[in-house]
Amino acid sequence: MVMAELIHSLSYEGELQNRIQGDVLVPGNEAYENARKAWNLNVDQYPAVILVAESARDIAEGVQYARDMGLGVAVQSTGHGITLEANDCLLITTSKLNEVEINEVQQTAWIGAGVVWADVLEKAQAHGLAPLLGSSSAVGAVGYTLGGGMGWLARKHGLSADSALEFEVVTADGRLIFTNETENSEMYWVLRGGGGSFAIVTSMKIKLYPITEIYGGTMIYPAEEAKPALNFYREWIHFLPEDWTTSFAIMNFPPIPDLPPFLSGKSVVMINGCYSGEDLNAGAMMAQAWLDWKQPITNSFRRMPFKEIDSISNDPKDPSAGKSSGAWLKELDEDTIEALVENAIGSPIMKFEVRYAGGAVSHTHNNAFGHRDAKHIMQMLAITPTKEALTQAEADIADFKRVMAPHLTGGVYMNFLEGKESRQETRNGYPTDKFERLMILKAKFDPDNIFRFGFNIPPKR
Ligand SMILES: Cc1cc2nc3c(=O)[nH]c(=O)nc-3n(C[C@H](O)[C@H](O)[C@H](O)COP(=O)(O)OP(=O)(O)OC[C@H]3O[C@@H](n4cnc5c(N)ncnc54)[C@H](O)[C@@H]3O)c2cc1C
Repeated sequence: MVMAELIHSLSYEGELQNRIQGDVLVPGNEAYENARKAWNLNVDQYPAVILVAESARDIAEGVQYARDMGLGVAVQSTGHGITLEANDCLLITTSKLNEVEINEVQQTAWIGAGVVWADVLEKAQAHGLAPLLGSSSAVGAVGYTLGGGMGWLARKHGLSADSALEFEVVTADGRLIFTNETENSEMYWVLRGGGGSFAIVTSMKIKLYPITEIYGGTMIYPAEEAKPALNFYREWIHFLPEDWTTSFAIMNFPPIPDLPPFLSGKSVVMINGCYSGEDLNAGAMMAQAWLDWKQPITNSFRRMPFKEIDSISNDPKDPSAGKSSGAWLKELDEDTIEALVENAIGSPIMKFEVRYAGGAVSHTHNNAFGHRDAKHIMQMLAITPTKEALTQAEADIADFKRVMAPHLTGGVYMNFLEGKESRQETRNGYPTDKFERLMILKAKFDPDNIFRFGFNIPPKR
């Protein structure tokens, strides 16, 4: 940071600190260094000033202050899904807004902007209720929901955005307002799938579902079985009720001594699933079809308490350096499977997961979420410990998407994109009419684009 910028940052510190309860951090101290970090270790950002919010009012003051100073405003909960690094702006961190209030009778939760799913999961399960979290409970509930939010109950209960009932937000002109189906309903529409570019959410109310136990897990088959296994998967899911949410993954594990020998340096196929119907034995019987087909190398399918749901995907909890990407498949036919197997096995990209959407994900909802008609969403994940590895992974992913193009709809799921690719592809996260409406609403809610660090939705001129 050059001297003039540092002097600017220091002047922000005193003025803003007088207006808020939380901490104001500027470059040059350890607290700033910690707060500028993100869960994704590829992110290396230098905000002009960081506001560690302790209340919704702090956020409103912060936004007003940033406006007066001509600064853009970025918001971060965990840093799992950064699309544009928060450089030379006000970064508002929400991690201290971590209250969770469960209403057992209504089957709802009010949660603060900094809450991670693990907190909701624990508190909701104490009342026999489940939230619509995703594959990792370390992810922030609000950021996940704003992009849609597709987890292990998606085919049964839809996206997290579909179960978001109300939001309290700070608008681009620094006002604190409520939005729901009837109040400020355009804002409500946009927040459910349109991302964090329209307002800063300070808290939200979500529906919960009475689930305490599920049947789920993973079976692993060797790479040589990939084609028959995925063709069997295609037939299997055809008969599954919406109580099942499933995925398969082609994994290319690096040679790591910590991994068991059947995974270290190997490619494998994983069949993952979660059954949340009333009779878990029925789920077990449907999973038995796999064992009757061929014995896997390992099988972790079992009845499990819902609070152990993270064990299905086993995502990393600690901060990691990775590049995520994704694309909707046109369909899962034999040609698509052939192309996937040919191009994914042995690829430098570590993970190719194809989640079965459809079911409740495809039900119509009056909100901004982009693509509900396609049935299979692919996510790719590369491990990127260095900047060079990140550049290489970006190129590998682009190459893979190019060869797979005949099998892709051209649409993307915004939650699975990040960084540069997210900025470039935002338009493909939505059908044309929805993207048009998003740009019109962006012009209405944030004409100066101060919330420009979320999804890349330009105000309609
Ligand atoms: C390990 C892992 C597992 C995942 N699993 C799934 C999954 O199963 N299903 C799925 O759908 N997605 C999944 N994701 C993607 C995840 O939902 C997105 O990355 C999401 O944006 C993360 O939100 P966050 O708040 O944790 O991250 P952050 O990086 O803190 O926030 C991401 C963005 O959300 C917006 N945002 C956050 N808080 C606010 C707020 N209070 N007001 C306005 N905007 C805000 C901002 O634009 C911010 O840049 C996963 C990601 C990872 C890394």
